[in-house]
Amino acid sequence: MTDAPMKPSLQRPIAPRIGASRPVVSPIMPSVVYASETPDTLDDQYEGRTQGYAYAREGHPNADALARRLDAMEGVSGGVVTGSGMAAVAAVLLGLTKAGDHVVGADQLYGRSLRMMKEDLPRLGIETSLADPTDVAAIERALRPETRLVLIEVVSNPTLRIADLDGIAQLCRERGVLLAVDNTFTTPAAIRPVDHGADIVIQSVTKLLAGHSDVTLGWVGAREATLNDAMRVFATTTGMSASPFDCWLAERGLATFELRFARAQDTAARLAAHLAGQAGVKRVLYPTRGDHPDSARAQAVLRGRGCNMVSFEIEGGRAAANAFAAAAEGIAFAPTLGDVGTTLSHPPSSSHRALTPEGRASLGISEGFFRVSVGLEDPEALITTFDAGLAAARAV
Ligand SMILES: *Cc1c(COP(=O)(O)O)cnc(C)c1O
Repeated sequence: MTDAPMKPSLQRPIAPRIGASRPVVSPIMPSVVYASETPDTLDDQYEGRTQGYAYAREGHPNADALARRLDAMEGVSGGVVTGSGMAAVAAVLLGLTKAGDHVVGADQLYGRSLRMMKEDLPRLGIETSLADPTDVAAIERALRPETRLVLIEVVSNPTLRIADLDGIAQLCRERGVLLAVDNTFTTPAAIRPVDHGADIVIQSVTKLLAGHSDVTLGWVGAREATLNDAMRVFATTTGMSASPFDCWLAERGLATFELRFARAQDTAARLAAHLAGQAGVKRVLYPTRGDHPDSARAQAVLRGRGCNMVSFEIEGGRAAANAFAAAAEGIAFAPTLGDVGTTLSHPPSSSHRALTPEGRASLGISEGFFRVSVGLEDPEALITTFDAGLAAARAV
């Protein structure tokens, strides 16, 4: 009998021996500088003839240990760990483009990614367009001869629409345009974008992968080594590097990532089913539900798996939303996701507050709209808490 290969998230570290034994946990190596023996040995290192480190902003053992695990999980090699998810987005959008290029983004990207598309790229002479990633024809209409790359997310925030990943990947391949996929919501446990033809994958490691809301980190990996090299140089030059301790914590979090994600998904599906039957709930958005606008694509792309996010809308506007958040005690009202605890976000007052009410309405985001990142609580207790929130909202 042969053992199944160990999942990359669970692999033991390659740690140096201490006497006759070996630690089973990666050591933390906070050194900023690394001493070399001679100018020749340093030369060998910089020319790639030997392995070693010189200065932590350029790379360090903890970042490499984390990067190699994430590489294996996403199916690439040579990816780069960055100090935040946004640093990884910037390494793609700014590290792989030049003035005169054009970039197409999904119209419901993560808020700061949207801001980079709308404000920062144009300021540097890189034109951008936004288009609906559930409609490959809309993405095609946005392409120009000078389009360098397309950036999408598989599951959108907060309405959980499913991008036509395969269609967009085929389009990008035909047109010689790079496809970058932010896989933060879906994670490699649900989908590996490179297996669908994406060129570049981005992770906010801050969220589900590290999983405990105690590190801010990102990772980006491309199939082509030249792209990884360009992003690594850009990240080093602009100081996007990650701290050794954060990388170590993220590696620790990865060991339980698959378990956490599976459990959170089961509870999310249960919560979605429960909420859909409650008075005062206008609609529930969850990818594996039959009434989801992209349910067929969710089946095909996510192969029947959901995600740990559930969005729902209650009747009664802002007053009911206030009552819900106050009464759903024990659920952190905080705009993040992927934590061990369930968190509740209210897009109209947080991620989507910069939009006009009409702009939000066009996305289907009313004052009664909530997005839930489901954590690891007992499902029954969680549902009881949501029921308390709904009862308070109905009483307004
Ligand atoms: C949070 C998030 C980011 C940004 O990650 P940070 O680690 O907060 O910088 C990017 N994309 C998505 C989809 C996110 O959820």
